[in-house]
Amino acid sequence: MKIFVLNSGSSSIKYKLFNMDQHLEVVAWGEVEKIGEEISSISLNSIKEKIICSNHHEAFKQIAKQLKKTGILKDFTCLSAIAHRVVHGGSVFSKPVLIDETVTDVIRRMIPLAPLHNSANLEGITAMQHLAPNIKQIAFFDTAFHQSMPASSSRYALPEYYYDTMQIRRYGFHGISHHYLAKESARLLGKPLQICNLITLHLGNGASATAIQNGKSLETSMGFTPLEGLVMGTRSGDIDPGILLYLLNEHDYDAKKLDHILNYQSGLKGLCGINDMREVIQKMQLGEENAKLAFNIFCQKVKQYIGAYIALLGTVDAIVFSGGIGTNSPEVREAVCYNMAALGIILDKEENEKGATFIGHEGEVKILRIKTDEEREMANQSLQFIKESDI
Ligand code: AMP
Repeated sequence: MKIFVLNSGSSSIKYKLFNMDQHLEVVAWGEVEKIGEEISSISLNSIKEKIICSNHHEAFKQIAKQLKKTGILKDFTCLSAIAHRVVHGGSVFSKPVLIDETVTDVIRRMIPLAPLHNSANLEGITAMQHLAPNIKQIAFFDTAFHQSMPASSSRYALPEYYYDTMQIRRYGFHGISHHYLAKESARLLGKPLQICNLITLHLGNGASATAIQNGKSLETSMGFTPLEGLVMGTRSGDIDPGILLYLLNEHDYDAKKLDHILNYQSGLKGLCGINDMREVIQKMQLGEENAKLAFNIFCQKVKQYIGAYIALLGTVDAIVFSGGIGTNSPEVREAVCYNMAALGIILDKEENEKGATFIGHEGEVKILRIKTDEEREMANQSLQFIKESDI
């Protein structure tokens, strides 16, 4: 039994192929990059070669060809299911769904809320529907895990009209990752997820924090779009909305320019010119003031969210560091946890530097370091889905 897990972006497709017979073994992983450009590339298990590839349909054909040539998969008809990551499921989906016309209609309707992501996700779905029409395809939404948020977390203090007619509310993202981290934390803590209170930190180029109460998302830092919340690689995170009004009214900025600044020119990059945390840390250690400021603002924001989420949750079993930065940077974890003993958070310096899984001192709040695995989460849930729905 093989499951093909896909993440279709606007110019790239990432995939992992899982064999479900032997405890979810990854049998192949790969990527097609620069789709639609003059020269594209395809990689299989990290070996990369150049190809010509004009669209998603062509990209999947090349992936199929490569998997066949290497004897990994005869063709797509040998798959048990295809799992697609979809960024925005609006308020409609709170769990994975079998893709049919109604589902693709909703994904299409959500395009204005996630223009780059949902249209690319849909392109991946349409291409695979053509290439493997008889294989069941399942959609996994990044917003789904956060559908459990109560109105006090999901609503903005705006006139009701905007919620009723324009669906302006907080949706939250990175849900597949936060869900995986929640389950993995429960396993490591030896406690049923249903009684776990956690703060999961997905700190990567995109970053978000989630307060999880009794295994469910209670509140998360990303909102209507993935712009809200923590400082990110190139995204601003929380800012005073009055800044946008000021730029629009007093400096003739338009929506396109604001979009570009907030999504691509801000965050770490805006503060010190670099969006890669590894380089930010290197520059900081060489004494560059801007890099130090960017690092400090990034960490302070994470700290503030932890404090706020402890206040919301009351009791917390564990703080969970993940994402490229959370998993790999002892410096960030140390700065975030600094001086938080009053909240029961005490980092074990040695374990932190070693990159252990349990990196806190014995106490009320455990501190965990977990590498997230969204594809595994989707494969796992696909297996469950297949069992439950008998497909
Ligand atoms: P992601 O989006 O989850 O792949 O994470 C990407 C981010 O992780 C980038 O900012 C990288 O610089 C950062 N990252 C990866 N390895 C390290 C490291 N060893 N120390 C600090 N940041 C890292």
